[in-house]
Amino acid sequence: MHSPYKRHIITAKIAVETQYIASLQRANHERENLQPKDMNTFEATTYYFRQAASVMELSERVQALLINPDREVKVEVSLQLDNGELAIFDAFRIQHNSARGPMKGGLRYHPEVDADEAKGLASLMTWKTALVDIPFGGAKGGITCDPATLSENEKERLTRRFIQKIHEFIGPQKDIPAPDVNTDAQVMAWIMSEYSLIHGFSPAVVTGKPLDLHGSKGREEATGQGVTYIAEEVLKDLGTSINNCSFAIQGFGNVGSYVAKFVHEAGGKVIAVSDVSGGLYDPNGLNIPELLGFSKRRVLLKEYSGAKRNISNQELLTLDCDVLIPAAMGGVLTVENAAEVSARVVIEAANGPTTPEADETLQRKDILVIPDILANAGGVIVSYFEWVQNLQHFTWELDQVNSQLKRLLTNSYHSARRLSKERGISLRTAAYIIGIGRVGRATVLLGV
Ligand code: NAD
Repeated sequence: MHSPYKRHIITAKIAVETQYIASLQRANHERENLQPKDMNTFEATTYYFRQAASVMELSERVQALLINPDREVKVEVSLQLDNGELAIFDAFRIQHNSARGPMKGGLRYHPEVDADEAKGLASLMTWKTALVDIPFGGAKGGITCDPATLSENEKERLTRRFIQKIHEFIGPQKDIPAPDVNTDAQVMAWIMSEYSLIHGFSPAVVTGKPLDLHGSKGREEATGQGVTYIAEEVLKDLGTSINNCSFAIQGFGNVGSYVAKFVHEAGGKVIAVSDVSGGLYDPNGLNIPELLGFSKRRVLLKEYSGAKRNISNQELLTLDCDVLIPAAMGGVLTVENAAEVSARVVIEAANGPTTPEADETLQRKDILVIPDILANAGGVIVSYFEWVQNLQHFTWELDQVNSQLKRLLTNSYHSARRLSKERGISLRTAAYIIGIGRVGRATVLLGV
């Protein structure tokens, strides 16, 4: 009997038989140009996709159909700065795939935001929402800017101008943004406000909103909470537990600070944390409650004097620890530093922190990597709960949010782990196979 994804392959092969030579050529061209080194985010995601697709024996045509985004929106946003000068910013919304539902993904404000990064991150969202089986597709976007140089007023006006430009492409049943790097509940509130001015009261157009404005209990901490649930399961499978392990966490924003909090509360020893200003290290464990006060007040970690010593972000990645958790930017584990990683497990709380070549090195070193599309899916899962609550005008209690979050995440982890063991493939490839299979079957059922 054929496995479910084999059945999909056969159906899909027949369904697309007559389709598009042009995208086949484009896919071949991309493949020839793919080297394991120096890939941008889109190339890296495509590389991981193709690894899974080759195990699934998906034809080039099906692969091309699933790799390329449905729609790429690029707009120019002009803004009068507080000093009266005019500034112009590039902004993006990439909508990757909507076969399983409205598209869903974060909005990032960062100088390195560009179309390729957003394309890669949008594609990750498609596989992530499918892997954890919530009824969304994938999208991502952002504004190429340095928010540290913008006043709160400028950030609000920039956000509102951006929404004026893209409002017709987003919506509760089309594409639902959420917070990502340098965007938070306040930015989501401005988006809801601007969108609602045009379309009428629409809380479900964004998730990650403040609690006072139709946000969900548990959403702010959801990604960090989810990473901790995953850590519990993974360590249990390795015959240990959080309270027996040491952790190094890169990034101390929304995700990193909540991971540190929950791991610390579970008895884990957090020996290193970092932010954009650098890292802190104490082999006996840092004072996490004190450091959380810094992150709440948005004070950079370099101002903290209570650590044993200050370290660089690079040094943090190669520290002797049980669990390494990159929770900041993508592409930080590279061909240059992967061989030096000493952790037993890497849990990808950030999106795309491991380049494909680094991934191969980690596998050779027998370091278990928990892929981003599984490890950080807690955020989008509770975003889904927020969207459901908004559509039903009904609120959930925190224990309901967290128990449903834990259920979806642990089920997804165990499905991926089972497949990975059965097929002798990495957890990442297994997770992609599950996601790709679900999106592929939905695509075929809709009619290509
Ligand atoms: P954030 O803006 O709240 O925090 C980012 C953190 O990274 C900050 O501490 C910042 O100082 C640090 N940082 C920035 N540049 C750095 C650099 N070059 N080196 C080291 N540290 C650096 O963002 P976040 O929401 O915590 O997102 C972090 C990561 O998690 C991103 O990759 C994001 O895509 C991913 N993610 C976030 C969510 C979410 O719900 N917020 C969900 C899933 C995945």
